[in-house]
Amino acid sequence: MMQLFIPLNFLGFVYREIRGAFANIERMFALLDKTPLIQDASDAYDKPLTQGSVSFENVVFSYDSREILKGVSLTVEAGQKVAIVGDSGAGKSTLVKLLFRFYDVVGGRICIDGHDIRDVSQNTLRQAIAIVPQDTVLFNDTLIENIRYGRPSATDEEISAAIQMAHLSQFIESLPEGGATKVGERGLKLSGGEKQRVAIARAILKKSPILVFDEATSSLDSRSEQAILTALKEVAKGHTSLVIAHRLSTVIDADKIIVLSKGKVVEAGSHNELLAANGLYCKLWYAQQESADF
Ligand code: ATP
Repeated sequence: MMQLFIPLNFLGFVYREIRGAFANIERMFALLDKTPLIQDASDAYDKPLTQGSVSFENVVFSYDSREILKGVSLTVEAGQKVAIVGDSGAGKSTLVKLLFRFYDVVGGRICIDGHDIRDVSQNTLRQAIAIVPQDTVLFNDTLIENIRYGRPSATDEEISAAIQMAHLSQFIESLPEGGATKVGERGLKLSGGEKQRVAIARAILKKSPILVFDEATSSLDSRSEQAILTALKEVAKGHTSLVIAHRLSTVIDADKIIVLSKGKVVEAGSHNELLAANGLYCKLWYAQQESADF
């Protein structure tokens, strides 16, 4: 019986792998067949959005029929650092998806430099925003090529400068083949913190006026988190930055903190103003302080 068990188990494994591969291929064809959800308007214009001011004006959004954002208004002046905080599921990431126009708003509008984002081409829109996501996708290529992806036309000098600003130099020097080390799927696996710094380097190269940072929910070790925050501070200079924050300690210095709850802005102000207001932010702040003490 045991003699049969191992080959049968192996056959079962091979069958599952093949079935999985076909399912992936089917999904890929289904994706290729799909017309993109968002299309440029016939009169969409290309106009570089260089200032980086952002406004959400009474934005309403639903996934299917579930209303997620219920009339959100907020403004970010060019060059400001604004943080969005709130409970899990409040709609923070949805705000960013709408800013990037992965979906269109159901009501209200979103403007960059006074232009409704539905009026400009998606190319114009995507050029205006650089995003540092929670989980960065790395290609099966060298580390340098993965960074260059931020702006393929970047020179070697610009890439070196971005690496320095993103606090990646020490890490790269520690690799056996330096920047030529293969990373990604079949290469070296990077930690969450290292991947976010690669995304920061890409964002630096992209030179967009707006930087969106989606803070990782999984906790990074404090050295890694500090390296990211220092890198971000440098990148944020001269840029508008929008930070989706899970750890409130990382956004104390924001010009404005927007508190979202169940799809509505319930409070907005600086860290000190919000603590003095003794509302939801204050509650979240003390809850996080307590859990940090343990
Ligand atoms: P977290 O802090 O946990 O990341 P969040 O505030 O960023 O949460 P969102 O990701 O914006 O919250 O999600 C808001 C709500 O929308 C949640 O209830 C979520 O389940 C729902 N949602 C998110 N994406 C989709 C989707 N693609 N389809 C349907 N519902 C979704």
